[in-house]
Amino acid sequence: MKPGLVCTDFDGTLTTEDPTAPLAPGFFDWLQGVRQKNNVSWVVATGRSWEGLREALLHHQAPVFPDWIVTVEREIHRVEGKEARSVEKWNRTCNEVHEALFGRHGAILERIEKEVGCHEDVTVIPDVGAIGLVVESSDGIAHAEKMVREILKDRPEILTVRNGPYFRFAHADYHKGSCLGHVQSLLDLGPETTFVAGDNLNDLSMLTRRCGHYLACPSNSHEEVLAQVKREGGYLARAPGGIGIAEALHYFFQ
Ligand SMILES: [Mg+2]
Repeated sequence: MKPGLVCTDFDGTLTTEDPTAPLAPGFFDWLQGVRQKNNVSWVVATGRSWEGLREALLHHQAPVFPDWIVTVEREIHRVEGKEARSVEKWNRTCNEVHEALFGRHGAILERIEKEVGCHEDVTVIPDVGAIGLVVESSDGIAHAEKMVREILKDRPEILTVRNGPYFRFAHADYHKGSCLGHVQSLLDLGPETTFVAGDNLNDLSMLTRRCGHYLACPSNSHEEVLAQVKREGGYLARAPGGIGIAEALHYFFQ
């Protein structure tokens, strides 16, 4: 079996804690090797903006740029050369949906800002049309998570997107999983030829068999990610970051 689509998160999945380490050499070797015979598209699905991702790819001297990117966990762009071209129809609707959502729930966001943001470990930041939270300690994260869940308990349309210390708010229909689904529909590819890898809570929406039949996570993954990938029949790599992802690709696609 050959993959048609490889979708990876970026931070913690291709990168490791060490900013000076080369970026996932085994991953790029695998991708460039398989592309000599097969057409394989690479999607990066990240919480970063395009500018942030581009800077990181350049900083790490990535030998290849992705073909598609999902930025801020909900916008889709096609990459041509080293430039991103917005998938206009998706992004326009995404924008309208979020403007309406944050307009309807302004009071709820204010409550989060006031009641969760007053905690000493929590910093409230402006974040793609709304507010986001950055929480310092693991105790602070657990506390903020509990409070946010309580405030949003009757608002199923608001999704809390968690990634390490970051809390972002989004419409429940927009996440890495639905964005990957849209890229698959544009490429006319299904889960049976899709590989997906991620390490953190914001990757859970795409680490499902509905999105890809080849799922993987590096050894440094969040415990909920490890548990879900295992449950979904995916591969738990022994190595961290991009080394682990190369290990998973070799496991699935000899
Ligand atoms: Mg990550």
